[in-house]
Amino acid sequence: MDEQTALRAVDFIMSHSSEVEEITIGFYGGEPFLEFELIKKVVQYVKELYPEKKVRFNLTTNMTLVSDEIIEYIIKNNIEVMISIDGPESVQDKYRVFAGGQGSYAKVAQNVSKLCEKDAEYYRKCMTNTVLSPGCDCEAVRDFLDHDELFSPLTSMVTQVNDVGLKEQIEYDDSYYKMMRREKFKLFLAMLGEIEFDKVSKVARQHMATILQTYQMLKTNGTDGLKISHPGGPCVPGKKRVFVDVDGNFYPCERISEYENFQIGNLDEGFDYDRIRNMLNVGKCTRKECLDCWAFLYCGTCIANMTEEGTATKAMRMRRCPGEKNVLISQLSDVEIMKHYGFDFMQMEEEK
Ligand code: SF4
Repeated sequence: MDEQTALRAVDFIMSHSSEVEEITIGFYGGEPFLEFELIKKVVQYVKELYPEKKVRFNLTTNMTLVSDEIIEYIIKNNIEVMISIDGPESVQDKYRVFAGGQGSYAKVAQNVSKLCEKDAEYYRKCMTNTVLSPGCDCEAVRDFLDHDELFSPLTSMVTQVNDVGLKEQIEYDDSYYKMMRREKFKLFLAMLGEIEFDKVSKVARQHMATILQTYQMLKTNGTDGLKISHPGGPCVPGKKRVFVDVDGNFYPCERISEYENFQIGNLDEGFDYDRIRNMLNVGKCTRKECLDCWAFLYCGTCIANMTEEGTATKAMRMRRCPGEKNVLISQLSDVEIMKHYGFDFMQMEEEK
């Protein structure tokens, strides 16, 4: 992205968020540090032109290009960093390799150590993002996230491979499901006060937020809440976030930012409300099937989940539908299990 586009994007977000107390500007790649000079210009521009606005900056990096200068800069400017690391050396070097084929673990660990040594307090606020690939040694990844001296102190996000736009659904083997079930069971025990939370693996801890969100969703969308709904997905495009590409085009999020069909405006013309409306009403294409569906009030299928070769299709929506229902059944049963065994959701809400 050129400097002018980046700064215009900043001006756009500022002029469209005057009622919002705090905003976050995220730098996306590939690898954002390939454009370190541009990042510096954007941060400086924001600080000089919008000193009254609370702004957080974040980025996700593979940590391979991080120099001493970059380390000093991100600490000084309190840039929130998410480190991509897929597991111990044996796993990372299989899935994250340099152009020449050599594994990246040693380089990443070396740079992360430097960051930690430079400012341990800042380092503790960084996060890791781990993608569990089908067929990977997931128990080795779990042990690494829970016990590695360098990485285990950080909060971890653990995700599956992003399957947006893929024709085939990604399939994980039994070892993945066995491990996740075991760790989720430990999470249940911890939520019920039977074991300490630090006995729960980091691969399962984020699931607690999902259980709480499902409980909330049951309250607002369930039979006691909304009577009217439409399954168009969880977000209103452009309302809480907007992704700006190198040419200044807007998209609802990074997951579908490579498809022209999903543009929702640009820096020259602003938001395209007709496109946003169409995107919001994307569930219309399966109106008949959805109106007969038990999951109607809870369905989170958004345009990203029904994308096939750059277009949102009814066929793809229906192909994904059984998987969506299975996820929902599992989430609803988690809430019911926790209620049955006496987990106090009300108290948890009050404490939040
Ligand atoms: S689960 Fe499938 S049929 Fe049910 S509301 Fe969602 S998309 Fe429609």
